[in-house]
Amino acid sequence: MSRILIIEDEEAIAELEKDYLELSGFEVVISNTGDEGLQIALAEEFDLIVLDLMLPGMDGFEICKLIREEKNIPIIMVSAKKDDIDKIRGLGLGADDYMTKPFSPSELVARVKAHMARYDRLVGSTQKSNDIIEIRGIRIDKTARRVMVDGVEKAFTGKEFDLLTFLAENPNHVYTKEELFREIWDMDSIGDIATVTVHIKKIREKIEYDSAKPQYIETIWGVGYRFKV
Ligand code: CA
Repeated sequence: MSRILIIEDEEAIAELEKDYLELSGFEVVISNTGDEGLQIALAEEFDLIVLDLMLPGMDGFEICKLIREEKNIPIIMVSAKKDDIDKIRGLGLGADDYMTKPFSPSELVARVKAHMARYDRLVGSTQKSNDIIEIRGIRIDKTARRVMVDGVEKAFTGKEFDLLTFLAENPNHVYTKEELFREIWDMDSIGDIATVTVHIKKIREKIEYDSAKPQYIETIWGVGYRFKV
């Protein structure tokens, strides 16, 4: 469930916002002071922050700036004064949106949903376009089909790459040689399960510090192999 932090000193407003957001399926935490709000914002994980500008203690400008230094989650700033909106824009604090009080709670909910969807798309698309598996010192770029071991690129044949990627994507799962052969090679391709052994040996020479004492691809005697995490 997505979590939202509301930093707002007017308790009635904070409670109203909370009710509406909870009805829309969000989990909501309220803080009524600037200093405490900042602490919670930095200490806990949230998906979005609704930040009032005028607060006792530290004000919203300062809080926004300090949160932005640590996190890039969406921040919606709220103010009773129209002039403040210009100031927020002018200061370039990194707020994603701003709303002038009074506003309808349903408008807040709509904006919260829009910002979360946009943020999910941004974060999601970065992960997808990279398509990278990282396990300890090994970095596998599936799109570019490249493997880095402790920062040094290693050359892999097509089948070696497929086999390493398959094992790394299914860590701690023990596969028999037969299963790996079926997974990586075509059913009617020439060769047998000894091919798997040969390929594992070659992969180990490239990724292991000491092939005799493998740290990544373990041999489970009498069964097969697994990628250890
Ligand atoms: Ca206030």
